[in-house]
Amino acid sequence: DLRVRGISSAIRVVPNFPKPGIMFQDITTLLLDPKAFRDAIDIFVDRYKDKEISVVAGIEARGFLFGPPIALAIGAKFVPMRKPRKLPGEVIAEEYVLEYGKDRLEMHVGAVQPGERALIVDDLIATGGTLCAAIKLLERAGAEVVECACVIELPELKGRGKLDGKALYILVESR
Ligand code: 5GP
Repeated sequence: DLRVRGISSAIRVVPNFPKPGIMFQDITTLLLDPKAFRDAIDIFVDRYKDKEISVVAGIEARGFLFGPPIALAIGAKFVPMRKPRKLPGEVIAEEYVLEYGKDRLEMHVGAVQPGERALIVDDLIATGGTLCAAIKLLERAGAEVVECACVIELPELKGRGKLDGKALYILVESR
């Protein structure tokens, strides 16, 4: 797919951000390129439009950029999975381990009903810890996680294997 090459070259790699040794994959440059941004959304929409997905769950913060346009196009609702203490209503939470310390994802109680078919969207999978927490939240709410979708995978970190057997779909591998 020629579109994938355009998407890949629209992603900027910033060395030593946010700390020395990290090659940060910057998707803000993809957002600056309307053709590549649209192509990315179109590829996801083509894949998910006929899969009877009723909820797209987007992970803070960059899953909020890709999730809503996909949700609107496939006729699903959008549910934000947020960092601690951002959501005003009653929440369920899942902790996950980071390189240094812990973090937590929260989701509103009642946002997702038992039996719903969910797609999880984020910009990037590294170790897989974030997506794993998102899967647990949705399953605790009784939803079926159909697939996880990311723009970028860092394959060296083998995050794919942490997804509890759930399918992962990506557009590009990190350069
Ligand atoms: P994981 O939990 O898979 O180790 O990390 C994935 C999370 O960290 C995602 O929410 C993603 O937004 C963020 N992340 C980690 N590294 C990068 C990076 O190089 N670029 C971007 N855009 N996000 C990253």
